[in-house]
Order: sequence, then structure tokens, then C-alpha cells
Amino acid sequence: MGELLKGKVAIVTGASRGIGEATALTLGQAGAHVVATARTAQELDALVERLDRSGVQGLAVAADLTREEDVGRLKTAALDRFGQVDILVNNAGVGKYGPLSSLTAADYDWMMNTNMRSSFLCTSAFLPGMLERNEGWIVFVASVAGLKGLPHETVYCASKFAQVGFAQALDYETRERGVKVSVVAPGGVHTDFAIGTGRTKDDPHLTEMMDAQDVAEAVLFAVTQPEKVRVFLIGLRPMSEPL
Ligand code: NAP
Repeated sequence: MGELLKGKVAIVTGASRGIGEATALTLGQAGAHVVATARTAQELDALVERLDRSGVQGLAVAADLTREEDVGRLKTAALDRFGQVDILVNNAGVGKYGPLSSLTAADYDWMMNTNMRSSFLCTSAFLPGMLERNEGWIVFVASVAGLKGLPHETVYCASKFAQVGFAQALDYETRERGVKVSVVAPGGVHTDFAIGTGRTKDDPHLTEMMDAQDVAEAVLFAVTQPEKVRVFLIGLRPMSEPL
């Protein structure tokens, strides 16, 4: 196990699969204790078993992060087990692609709540402890869709622009108190993301996309800079993507 994050405690949201799972494993390999959260307990338990087998202390907390009471329960569980949280990776997210006419108010609430409300609730829960210690890292896994409007992604773009704006504003509030805010903005990543809501499993473009591990490495880069360096934005694109 690495030493880069030795003794740090990291929470990764949306850790049951995809980018979150890869990030949890990568931060654990770098020496962090890892709190893995998402809604699906079975996948989180399997992840924590993998962490345990590689000597990483892990904790699985099943939670719907759009719900304030669940985030409160996550905070209690994390602090009871590890005493503090140093790194928060706001990664949980969903997307539905299609023309605006195909999107409902329920789709809007689903995307905005999962992508932005969860980021707000988790940041509000874990930032105060970081500010008290004058040290911490908050990473938002946003998207290229948070930097640029894209066809058939109106609401998804809105939710990701919201995350980026939130992060930019937060950076002003926290940087003088030792808390670093980073945005990681990937283009297409080969995960289960949006399968059935715009992407299909047999889409030939999937294999050209980046891997979850590529994004996990960017998160690790953001949280392992020298004390006086902060990385605000990391943009990642597949070689094939024309954006
Ligand atoms: P994914 O494989 O579908 O994973 C999404 C994760 O979010 C899952 O762990 C899911 O777990 C969790 N989640 C969804 N709703 C939740 C809720 N209400 N409460 C708690 N957890 C919830 O997708 P991914 O590709 O890894 O995406 C991760 C992040 O990267 C997202 O924010 C996405 O917008 C962003 N991103 C993805 C791509 C891409 O092409 N894949 C590109 C740019 C940015 P449960 O279902 O178990 O709750």
C-alpha cells in the first residue's frame, strides 16, 4: 500500500461501481482509509471486502445521497469509525440523454437532485470539520457537460454546470482556510452510466471511451499536490472525442 495518503480518511460517493469504485480503490491503494457510499449495499460490501483484502480499512454506508437524513447517517457512521474526514469525492451522478421534449419534470428532479443536491448535502456535512483543522480536499466529478452545452444533454448539462459553479464559489470560501476544491471534468467514460437512458450496452463508441481508472488517477492527482498547490480543474477527453 502506498504512503501518499497515509492516515487520511476519504469518502467517495457513488462508489458502488464505475468511477467511484475505481476512485475508492485508488485512494485506498494510496494509503487512505475509505468510506464508500451509494444506495446498493451489496456492491459496497463487495468493494469493502476488496479493500480489506489489500490491507485498506474500509467502511460501507448504504445511503440515498439526495436525502438529508441519509447524509446525516453517513456523517455519523464515518466519524464514529474514523474520527474525521479529510477528503470528500462528490462523484455520485446520473444522466438521461435525449431532446428536451423527451425529458420530464421527474427526470429533471432525478438529475438535479442526484448530481447537485447530493454534492450540496455532502459538502455541507463534511466541510466544517475540514475548516476546523484548516486542511481538506473536496473533489467534484463533474463532466465536460459542466463546461460546455452539448446536444441532447440539456438537463444533465444544467446539473453539471451547477456543480462547477458551486465548486468555483466554494473555492473562494475555503482556500484561505486550507481546504482545496477540485473539479474533474471527464468526457466519455466506459461505465454503466446512462445505459438505458441514452446509451446502450452495444454502443461501439463505449470501447473508445476512457476507463474509470483514468478518472480515478485524476482524482488522486488532485488530492496529492504539495501544500501550496491547488488543482482547480482537470479536463480529460478520450482521443476520439471531437469536443
Ligand atoms: P455509474 O457507473 O452509473 O455510477 C454512478 C454511481 O452513482 C453509482 O455508484 C450509483 O450507485 C451512484 N448513485 C446514483 N444515484 C445515487 C443516489 N441517489 N445516492 C447515492 N448514490 C447514487 O456512472 P459513472 O460513469 O461512474 O459516473 C460517476 C460520475 O461521473 C457521475 O457524476 C457522472 O455524471 C460523471 N461522469 C461520467 C461520465 C461517463 O461517461 N461515464 C463522463 C463524465 C462525467 P447506486 O445506484 O448503488 O446508488
